[in-house]
Amino acid sequence: MKLQQVSENCFAVLNEKNLVCDANSGLINLGGGVVVDTQSDLSHGRRMIELFGKVWRAMPRRVINTHEDGDHVWGNQLFDGAEIIAHRTVKELMPHVADPRETQQLMKASDRFLTRMLLKALHPGALAVAQQLKQDYDFDDIRLVLPTTVFEERHVLDLDGTEVHLIYVGPCHQIGDTIIHVPKEKVVFAGDVIFRECTPMGWNGTYEKWLKVLDLIIALDPDVIVPGHGPVCGVEGAMEMKAYLGYVREESKRCFGQGLSALEASKKIDFGPYGGWRAPARLYMNVERAYRELRHEAADKPWDHAKVFDAVLTVAKAKGIPVEF
Ligand SMILES: [Zn+2]
Repeated sequence: MKLQQVSENCFAVLNEKNLVCDANSGLINLGGGVVVDTQSDLSHGRRMIELFGKVWRAMPRRVINTHEDGDHVWGNQLFDGAEIIAHRTVKELMPHVADPRETQQLMKASDRFLTRMLLKALHPGALAVAQQLKQDYDFDDIRLVLPTTVFEERHVLDLDGTEVHLIYVGPCHQIGDTIIHVPKEKVVFAGDVIFRECTPMGWNGTYEKWLKVLDLIIALDPDVIVPGHGPVCGVEGAMEMKAYLGYVREESKRCFGQGLSALEASKKIDFGPYGGWRAPARLYMNVERAYRELRHEAADKPWDHAKVFDAVLTVAKAKGIPVEF
């Protein structure tokens, strides 16, 4: 992990490996301090606190969760007494979407011989993702701490005269998606609306909405964007995401027209200029999302996580690339 100053008072902590769960955090070092997203487990959360601790005066008074996924909220308990701010839906969905028990059980199952063999037979992708996560993460002792302040469309903080705008933009990658704009410092914390140099994992939302939100970020004209995953960038990061989504959507449409399944399509679609991004086989999720739209299914249709990881594994193997999530 590394600390990076992105403007006079804004900072980022980045997980440079850039695989699943390697989420970024932000700090707006004004008005008692605001932390954006709290990492995937307690050891990463503590390391983030240590890195930000080099520049802040004291533990921050506020935390913002950009959305409800575990990799952005599982360090919340380390900010005892802080105001935790998120969109209304994040508070509603977090107990279901980010229930740490599901991940804890998967990790334990991958540890024990019998359950590991069972997993290998039934869900080899889920076993592979557990084995990857085990290298860096430990989900024990995580206790879900929910937002204490929720908002609807927009929430504005005044930090010693510097305005911070929380703008609700979901559902595009996830239902509770929120971006944080600091106009005076020309910074946007984009949450998982932007993945950089790694393949996006979108859960609930539509291509149309996601592309619109990326246009909104470009229109805000920031000098710096801190993405949810991957290195800090300028507006080119938003443009790259737009190009990726546009490419996958078009390729998916073509394959859908040929009668291929989402999995067959994912094996067939060329990674194009995105083959160098981390975990390119996560392409499957974006193809499946396009297929859901082409089949006129609900944008919040539930996902079977084990099946998703199995499909990503299948695509990686079919393409002959290293298995990574
Ligand atoms: Zn994330």
